[in-house]
Amino acid sequence: MLFFDTHAHIGLLQDDKMEQLLAVQLAKVKKVKHIVSICNSLSDFEKTYANLESAYGVYHAVGVSPTEVANPGRDWEERILLHAKKERIVAIGETGLDYYHMFGGDKSAQVELFLRHLDIAKQLDLPIIIHNRNAGEDLLNILEKKLPPKGGILHCFGEDWAFAKRALSLNLSFSFAGNLTFKNSRAIQEVAHNLPLDRIVIESEAPFMTPYPYKGERNKISYIIETAKTLSEIRETYLEELSESLYANSLRAFSLPKDV
Ligand SMILES: [Zn+2]
Repeated sequence: MLFFDTHAHIGLLQDDKMEQLLAVQLAKVKKVKHIVSICNSLSDFEKTYANLESAYGVYHAVGVSPTEVANPGRDWEERILLHAKKERIVAIGETGLDYYHMFGGDKSAQVELFLRHLDIAKQLDLPIIIHNRNAGEDLLNILEKKLPPKGGILHCFGEDWAFAKRALSLNLSFSFAGNLTFKNSRAIQEVAHNLPLDRIVIESEAPFMTPYPYKGERNKISYIIETAKTLSEIRETYLEELSESLYANSLRAFSLPKDV
């Protein structure tokens, strides 16, 4: 049984290179074979990529998250285009819209940054990793027109079935995180129950979104298994069988070959 973590902030989990490599090794011991490392800013990406360049099984997304909308960094578009040529870059992101925190003060700057990322993903023919908080309507309206051909992953999925049904008509995967395990997450659990299995992946979102029964602790990559367990209960399938499907779905979402 193997797991694929589609979204972990390894650079936020640990600062130090050796500690980061150790976090990856510990996750592997717990059967998390592949991890996509996510950064919010390009300077974080540059540091984390250099630290993990030799770490087998670690892939990377590159982009500027909505948290950085006020200051995406000097020459940020050129830098993304340059970094995307490096080895084991599998996606653009995370990017998207966050109207809960309203980074940047208003919606328009976030929408602009998101649109530029969608263009870059199309240009590079890479999938996009999408953050959404309280912005579902705008997000879908944009994706219906602008989702790049390689599609995307709705990360840390937190919307209801009405949203999911609309999103299903697009080339999107739904990535569930630790919040799926919470008792009060009925709406997300309903989505997880109803979706076609081949559209589902999972993520740790470490160091955030710690699943039950570890809630209150800092999240670890290996805790992703709790999300997988909850998903297997919701879908009434064996964990082994489910994890095989999730693993295959993740490889497909990032266009990775079966034997990596
Ligand atoms: Zn994240």
